[in-house]
Amino acid sequence: MKQVVIVTGSGRGIGAAVARQLAAGGHAVAVNFRSDRQAAEELVRTVRAAGGVALAVQADVADEAQVTQMFDMVEQELGPVSALVNNAGVTSRMASFMQTSSTTIENVFRTNVYGTMHCCRAAIDSFRRSGTKGVIVNVSSVAAATGSPNEYVHYAASKAAVETFTLGLAKELAPEGIRVCAVAPGLTLTDIHAVSGEPDRPARLAPKIPLQRPATPEEIAEPIVWLLSPAASYITGTTLRCGGGL
Ligand code: NAP
Repeated sequence: MKQVVIVTGSGRGIGAAVARQLAAGGHAVAVNFRSDRQAAEELVRTVRAAGGVALAVQADVADEAQVTQMFDMVEQELGPVSALVNNAGVTSRMASFMQTSSTTIENVFRTNVYGTMHCCRAAIDSFRRSGTKGVIVNVSSVAAATGSPNEYVHYAASKAAVETFTLGLAKELAPEGIRVCAVAPGLTLTDIHAVSGEPDRPARLAPKIPLQRPATPEEIAEPIVWLLSPAASYITGTTLRCGGGL
């Protein structure tokens, strides 16, 4: 087995594509989910049927105790964790800032920012215990650069926080040989747009993208998997924008 990788929020969407590509590359994958157990277990079954190693593990990344339990379980079942993808993320229904409640804003920050930080803390502990020069890839968004006005500025701000956190943490950990990077996807074909109230958002916005189309989850997973690999051994603190020209 090459690496043991936890991919948060990987029962579906971009995370599932990352998990599938990692498993196909011979890595053991922990498929984290919060509520959609069926999707996560189905993905694990598919990986195992193809001869790969995968484990479905439930945890709300916003809850530090659940994150600790997740890492303990993965270490017991798969061995020391050597990589983490902080993919779990949420938006909320599209609205202007003043139409968005404080509770909604706090929920988005709990998953996108605190969840990323809780998982990084647990991963760094795990890397240090096992003496692994681990690697972390955080999933940001092109929204961090555009601000997402009248859609979800709080979500955009949460992703900007993820990028700044990535930069600083990478510098703190570089002397230990631990790398921390981020990928900022643009518009990608997943369920996230339906949850934010407009399932057809990718089709509406496609003409504004220089490549004239949204990404598939697989097209975002490829650079994430590459950043995890030794091929990216001299890259840390970098956010790789994957926005089709945006
Ligand atoms: P998605 O299809 O809505 O899937 C989100 C995943 O995150 C689900 O597996 C969900 O788990 C999980 N999740 C949400 N909150 C969680 C929590 N608190 N703890 C654990 N898991 C949690 O989303 P996606 O489009 O694939 O997005 C993946 C990442 O890419 C997110 O960080 C998102 O912000 C970012 N992104 C997406 C786009 C896009 O256009 N799709 C663009 C830029 C950035 P359950 O299935 O159990 O609910």
